[in-house]
Amino acid sequence: MPINRRAFLHAAGLGAAAATLGGCSGPQTTSPLQRGTSDPPVDFAGLARKLSGPLITPDQPGYHLARRSFNPLFDNRTPAAIAQCRRIEDVQACVSTAAAARAPIAARSGGHSYPGYSTPDGALIVDLSAMSSVEVNANGTAVIGGGARLIDVYTSLAGAGRCLPAGSCPSVGIAGLTLGGGIGVLSRKYGLTCDRLLSATVVTADGTARTVSASAQPDLFWALRGGGGGNFGIVTSFTFDTVPAPQLTVFQLDFPAGSVPDVLGGWQQWIINMPDELWSKCNIIGGSPPSGTVIGCYVGPATGLNPLLADLTFRIGNLQPTLRTVAEHDCLNAMRYFAGCSDKSTTECHDQASGPQWNREAFVATSRIVTEPVTDPGQIVSVFDGRRVIAMVDGLRGAVGRVRSADTAFPHRGALATMQIYLGTSLAERAAAASSMAQMRDQLTGIVGGGAYVNYLDAGMPNWAQAYYADNLTRLRQVAQRYDPDRLFTFPQAITSG
Ligand SMILES: Cc1cc2nc3c(=O)[nH]c(=O)nc-3n(C[C@H](O)[C@H](O)[C@H](O)COP(=O)(O)OP(=O)(O)OC[C@H]3O[C@@H](n4cnc5c(N)ncnc54)[C@H](O)[C@@H]3O)c2cc1C
Repeated sequence: MPINRRAFLHAAGLGAAAATLGGCSGPQTTSPLQRGTSDPPVDFAGLARKLSGPLITPDQPGYHLARRSFNPLFDNRTPAAIAQCRRIEDVQACVSTAAAARAPIAARSGGHSYPGYSTPDGALIVDLSAMSSVEVNANGTAVIGGGARLIDVYTSLAGAGRCLPAGSCPSVGIAGLTLGGGIGVLSRKYGLTCDRLLSATVVTADGTARTVSASAQPDLFWALRGGGGGNFGIVTSFTFDTVPAPQLTVFQLDFPAGSVPDVLGGWQQWIINMPDELWSKCNIIGGSPPSGTVIGCYVGPATGLNPLLADLTFRIGNLQPTLRTVAEHDCLNAMRYFAGCSDKSTTECHDQASGPQWNREAFVATSRIVTEPVTDPGQIVSVFDGRRVIAMVDGLRGAVGRVRSADTAFPHRGALATMQIYLGTSLAERAAAASSMAQMRDQLTGIVGGGAYVNYLDAGMPNWAQAYYADNLTRLRQVAQRYDPDRLFTFPQAITSG
């Protein structure tokens, strides 16, 4: 989510839970792909000879580090091997090897999949993190490797005076983010990340590398813009239409515990009346009673933002915040602020994204889509009363809402906001956290409806395909049938042809 959750969990007194690391059995990881007794064994030795990067198997010393993803709850996953790919031919070799043996395979870029779908037990992991180059062309387009992480993208683009609307966490992968849509602090002004996509190169189940765009295999290009990571193929590079890096003003307003119904009620009316330049979220920090924070980003100087914040105060009954910060930043520093590494050097901020010091979090999460302002915000707030949770309501509309729902695979175009429920946890507390999360999710269904954001995958989401894809589901199934008829790319919530 477009805010540094760790900072928020700490602010909410939940830091210990957020920081507790450990292993866990996690949700179901069995791939629906059934290997038959007549299927040949996976030719790992042959694959290793074809790769330009290492193929790491469980008997090798680097295996424990190589299998890790962002969420430590998945540290005990046991992939069959991790192929650290360096070029597109490596990815093609992995796909062909898995297809020949009908063996499970999964792409991994940033490793932030909520249920750990990029690190399934028994699968060949196609690790793209070494394919992370970012090249900016003179016309402002940028070609970004499928394994790049957001901090690499923001830093490289800033060097060329450019920016891309994307998410906040520095270590999230551009691949998973874009393929599910990509919501961030610049979405209302510049659209979702997938809205800036001009073309993508994707290795499909037959091992072919295809460069797809609005004019080349447009059905697959359509599906890659919101259809969710892990479906259809493995994207090795993305070409985006970037924007000139704007000057930004960031802000945070904290409100006293007990005032959240008023804050949320005023905020939801405020955000729909704001110009596209203003993006904002309302965080509800569970407690007795819950407290609330409004955070945001304005494209322009503080002098333009201040009257808009005065309007927010008016809409919530002139309630004064207990804390008010407003600060102007260049685009990169604003992204670093939202990434939670303002006080770090560029190297330290980057180091959060990989290696032994990788800043990781054990958590469970789910989401709901808020389609319209709710008439009784107190009903929403009551769901979080007495709970150790943070609920992040991220404003949409603006440029996001001006694209029609059928124009890309991301279906929630008219929605007011996404709502994410996020619980920092540990191995010992995971089952209780997941159960509490499911209760909150199901209570919210009765208030805001059953939609959900595919980038906040929830392995226990009821009616998940409809929740993530709504009216775009049928077309997505047709694309899956066309490009992956044998269901090579599969996982518990994969789009299938039927
Ligand atoms: C701390 C945190 C902050 C976040 N902030 C935001 C945010 O601000 N905005 C937002 O919209 N989302 C946000 N997300 C959600 C994020 O967008 C999704 O979790 C996304 O799927 C992560 O992508 P990844 O490449 O890092 O993860 P991975 O785990 O590598 O991949 C996610 C899925 O995509 C597949 N995949 C990975 N690479 C490829 C590829 N190259 N081609 C095809 N499929 C691939 C994987 O198999 C897996 O199914 C956040 C998540 C976390 C954990």
